[in-house]
Amino acid sequence: MINPFKEALPIIIKIEEAGYEAYFVGGAVRDHLLNKQIHDIDIASSATPEEIKSIFPHTIDVGIAHGTVMVIWDQHTYEITTFRTESTYRDYRRPEQVYFVRELKEDLKRRDFTINAMAMDKNGHVIDYFNGKESLEKKEIKTVGNPNERFQEDALRIMRGIRFVSTLGFHLETETLNGIRNNRQLLSKIAVERITAEFEKLLHGPWCLEALEIMVETKMYQILPMLSSEEKGISKFAKLPLTKLELLEKWAVLLLCLGRKEKHQIELFLRAWKLSVKQIKTIQKLIYWMLQREQMTNWSNQALYFATLSVAVSVEKMYQLLKNNEVNIDIVHLEERYEKLPIKSMEELKIGGNDLLSWTEKKPGPWIKDVLSLVERNVVEEKLSNDKQLIKEWLKQCHQI
Ligand code: ATP
Ligand code: MG
Repeated sequence: MINPFKEALPIIIKIEEAGYEAYFVGGAVRDHLLNKQIHDIDIASSATPEEIKSIFPHTIDVGIAHGTVMVIWDQHTYEITTFRTESTYRDYRRPEQVYFVRELKEDLKRRDFTINAMAMDKNGHVIDYFNGKESLEKKEIKTVGNPNERFQEDALRIMRGIRFVSTLGFHLETETLNGIRNNRQLLSKIAVERITAEFEKLLHGPWCLEALEIMVETKMYQILPMLSSEEKGISKFAKLPLTKLELLEKWAVLLLCLGRKEKHQIELFLRAWKLSVKQIKTIQKLIYWMLQREQMTNWSNQALYFATLSVAVSVEKMYQLLKNNEVNIDIVHLEERYEKLPIKSMEELKIGGNDLLSWTEKKPGPWIKDVLSLVERNVVEEKLSNDKQLIKEWLKQCHQI
């Protein structure tokens, strides 16, 4: 058994000593069987949240209503969820009611895909009621039970199915794929935040292109925010080798493929996906500089300075991807050039507003900012040295003071 599981073993053992069952479940078991790195360990138990709380001294209620308690153990935190089953899902999103049960099999049955419906006991023995191992061997994503029913219970599974194509490189089993095609409309009932979280995991996956192709082929993209009539743009996006890009760069490239280049168009689109204001601003900046980049053969000092190095590097990566390496500016060269800039920000300028005031009789006013910007631009372009005395003389010559 590998380390993350070993560290969590005392938890399973303690729950068992108290007379209940406990297993590792879900994604961690799947990733372990695939020899992949494990990020979070989920534990399922026959003990109710109250029973779990009576076993461990340090717990946090994270989702008692859904049966989840967080246990703090040996500086790690573990989510322990009571075996549960879910009653009818009337609105295609959340179970109406959660029922705690004492059988592991019932709990595994409510899970989305066979590869996610396995459990592992303290000895590393895998419990596989729904042929998850077989699906792992076949590299297939297959719902536990009837796909139509499972997608109608919770339509987010449509999105999850496609994102596992991207993260695992698996294919969707035929009936599951048909289920996605038939039920895709239901995705419109799902909270955008949940869709965005899965979509971003999809964008992050090594098999992102394959997943996007499925989105196009099943017309599933039509149900996603602001994408209903964007077949052309999304198809273009789905052909690009995106794996080298970071998440926000991918969003920027998507917007460029859709032809949404104006500041307010970008904001409208990304707000619909519920991205944060900070993320929206960064993406706007990337697109702004991408459009500038199209007009330049190389980065001027001025452009490099105002864009900042990280934006320039991102833009260069995006540019090379979209223009098919037509013009190739070495990123290392860009970094060296940035390092050599006379200043990296206004604060590094050897003069400030007070100097300007002391050199003239003029009263404070907006002219200070204008003069400082003028000096800044000329220093960046290496037309003027960043030296207090030289700047003063230069300003006199230009009749600015
Ligand atoms: P990842 O490795 O990306 O975290 P994961 O499979 O662990 O993938 P989670 O969202 O962490 O995904 O969910 C943990 C487990 O909970 C899943 O493996 C699955 O068994 C179950 N699960 C999650 N979401 C659903 C859902 N919408 N319907 C049914 N079961 C779900
Ligand atoms: Mg997980």
